[in-house]
Amino acid sequence: MKKLDITNIKTLLQSPKKIVIVPHKNPDGDAIGATLGLYLYLLKYNHEVRVIAPNDYPEFLKWMPSEDTVLKYDAETEASNTLINQAEIIFTLDFNALNRTGDMESVLAKSEAIKIMIDHHQQPDDYALYTYSDVTMSSTCEMVYHFIDMLNDLNKIDADIATCLYTGIMTDTGSFRFSSTTSTTHKVIADLIDKGAENSQIHNAIYDTNSYNRLQLLGCTLSNLKVLPEYRTAYITLSQQELNKFDYKKGDTEGFVNYALSLANIVFAAIFIEDQKQNIIKISFRSKGDFSVNEFSRAHFSGGGHTNAAGGKSDTDLNETVEKFISILPSYKKALNNE
Ligand code: 5GP
Ligand code: MN
Repeated sequence: MKKLDITNIKTLLQSPKKIVIVPHKNPDGDAIGATLGLYLYLLKYNHEVRVIAPNDYPEFLKWMPSEDTVLKYDAETEASNTLINQAEIIFTLDFNALNRTGDMESVLAKSEAIKIMIDHHQQPDDYALYTYSDVTMSSTCEMVYHFIDMLNDLNKIDADIATCLYTGIMTDTGSFRFSSTTSTTHKVIADLIDKGAENSQIHNAIYDTNSYNRLQLLGCTLSNLKVLPEYRTAYITLSQQELNKFDYKKGDTEGFVNYALSLANIVFAAIFIEDQKQNIIKISFRSKGDFSVNEFSRAHFSGGGHTNAAGGKSDTDLNETVEKFISILPSYKKALNNE
């Protein structure tokens, strides 16, 4: 795996290039913030740039600067393929393996463009010519800030770029409270505010645009919460029927798993969400301390992520998935009680 070679990248970016920037499937605030922040930065050098997301993302991200320029691969496949095939450089942001882009995987794998990965997930695959991977980073948005800094271009960060990067750092750190938040993160945030990010407005735009239905769905979620004290574990299920009842929209369940983790003495939390369209159960895992949900999800639920936040999936039904989850816990009893 080749480390980031900033001198080479600087040379590479000196003349206008055709560039595509890709976040992971079901992009979150960090993925959209990082891709748009980098997009707006690269535009300043007259590159031909497009962000291509594998699929759509929640409404609460749809106010972000230049968000309306993002192509969605599943809806605009032909135009996206053309851009990918013509690209000289492809930046892949906020993911560690090409299969995290869903249906884009094969066209990305085949592309001969120079690939540059910027990402903070564990165990990055070796597909990029240049890999900027740092699992200690709060967010990919913080890494994009450091990347621009390495290119000696912090003065190119304007209010729109600052807004994008602020948003992703805020969403990936649970508003600056997760353990990945460092003093450097706060220094970056302070600089982004100085450069024009309106912190209070951004917070409002992301967190205070709830629909009535979403809050009712949260009520249902909380009443489904189950606790397994002997494993210091709490979990939640949401069936498709429950989602339908509250007119579920993409992004509505974002953050729900954190309520399970907020219980006193709980160090491991999971939410199991039925997706009848994809015929899977989508799972989010969260933990506190050293218990690695990345390892847990990789080992049992075809997923991965970070030590304290990971995703996964299951092909069996909701009940069977939960039964499997509960049956695995005894082998982690010691680890969970050591936290
Ligand atoms: P979430 O639970 O919010 O969907 O995801 C938590 C973290 O794990 C995010 O950083 C996300 O990118 C990552 N993640 C989610 N699903 C998967 C998956 O299926 N595989 C891997 N490797 N990472 C995932
Ligand atoms: Mn991230």
